[in-house]
Amino acid sequence: MAMSEPEPQSHPVDPRWHAQTRAVAAGRPTRHTGAAVNPAVTFTSTYIADGPLNYARVGNPTWTALEEAIGGLEGGDALTFGSGMAAVSAVVSLVPLGATVVAARHAYNGTTTLLGERAAAGALQVRPVDIDDTEQVVAALDEADLLIIESPTNPMMEVADIPALTAAAHERGALVACDNTFATPVLQQPLRDGVDVVIHSVTKYLAGHSDVLLGAVVTPADERGRVLRERILTHRTTHGAIPGPMEAFLALRGLRTLHVRVERASANAAELAGRLQGHPAVERVRYPGFGAMLAIEVRGGADAAEQVSAATRLWTHSTSLGGVESQLERRRRYDLEAKTVPESLIRLSVGIEHVEDLWSDLAAALDAVS
Ligand SMILES: *Cc1c(COP(=O)(O)O)cnc(C)c1O
Repeated sequence: MAMSEPEPQSHPVDPRWHAQTRAVAAGRPTRHTGAAVNPAVTFTSTYIADGPLNYARVGNPTWTALEEAIGGLEGGDALTFGSGMAAVSAVVSLVPLGATVVAARHAYNGTTTLLGERAAAGALQVRPVDIDDTEQVVAALDEADLLIIESPTNPMMEVADIPALTAAAHERGALVACDNTFATPVLQQPLRDGVDVVIHSVTKYLAGHSDVLLGAVVTPADERGRVLRERILTHRTTHGAIPGPMEAFLALRGLRTLHVRVERASANAAELAGRLQGHPAVERVRYPGFGAMLAIEVRGGADAAEQVSAATRLWTHSTSLGGVESQLERRRRYDLEAKTVPESLIRLSVGIEHVEDLWSDLAAALDAVS
C-alpha cells in the first residue's frame, strides 16, 4: 500500500493574494477549455495501478482540494479527517505510551474525555491546566511531552498566550498542538506563533453550515512539520479515520465564504455581548473580544438557563457551533462537561442573521426568566 499522494492537480494560488482571495481560489482544478471550475467529488475506493494513489484510504483528490485550501489559510499543510475528534486522536497518537500531556482543563469535552480514557488505560499522564494562566501552564510543563492548547476554550472562552506557552513548551522539548476551531484562521494562525500542530473541527466554522462532520490537522511547511505530517498521514491511513468525498466537497464549498461569515458573525457577537452585559437576567458575559462565540451565565442557575434555551424561536437549541445559524446550549446538561463550568452557563454560537432579530429573540427568552 503506497503512502504517496497525488501530485497537485490544482490551479496555482498566488501566495501574495490575501487570505479572503485564497479561500475562494484554492483547490480549483487546472484551467483548460471546458474544464469544471469546481473539483469533482471523487467516489472511488481504489485507483488503476501504478499511479500516485493505489487505494482510497490513503488519499482522494476531493480531500486534497480541501486540504490545499485549509493549509493555505493556516500557513501550513493540512490533512483532513472524518471528524474533529479523529483529528484530536491523531495528534494525541504522536506521543509515546506513558507520555505526559498538559491540556486545557476546559478544552472541548470530547478532547478531555479522550485524554481521560487514555489516562485511565495507563497510556498517558494528563495534567489539566487553566490555559489562560500562563504561569500555571509553564509550571506544569516540566517533563511534559505534549501541550494541547485550546484558545478560546469551549465553552469557558478562556484565552491563552499562545506564543509564550509555545516558547516555554519548546524550551522543555514538548510538542505543541493548538485547537483553533473557535478562532478560525481568519482571526488566529497558531503556526505563525510557533505551534507544531493545529487542530480543527472543520464541522464548525470552516464548513460553516451544520451539515457535515470533518476534522483537520495542519503542520508547518518546514522539515520538522513534514516529519509530523508523515506520521499523522500514516495514522490516518492505518486507523482509517478518513473523510468522505462528499463531506470534503461540502466543506470546501463552505470554506469559500469563511471570511464573510466570520466577519458578520463576529460583528453580531460584539454587539450582542454589549447588550447582554446590560440585561438583568445575565450575571456574567464571557466574550474574549473577538470571534463569534460567547457564553453567558444567567441568574437563576440551571433551571433558568434551560428555560432560556428552550424559549428561543430563532436561535436553535442544539449542540455544536460555527454554523450560519445562531445556536445556544447549556453545557452542563452533559455529564461529560467539566464540573468547573457553571451550571447556569449558556454557550452562544452567533450566526450571520440580522443582529436585531437575534437580540429580540434572545432578549425575550431572557426577559421571561428575569
Ligand atoms: C466540536 C469540537 C471538536 C470535535 O469536533 P467534531 O467534528 O465534533 O468531532 C474539537 N474541538 C473543538 C474546540 C470543538 O468545538
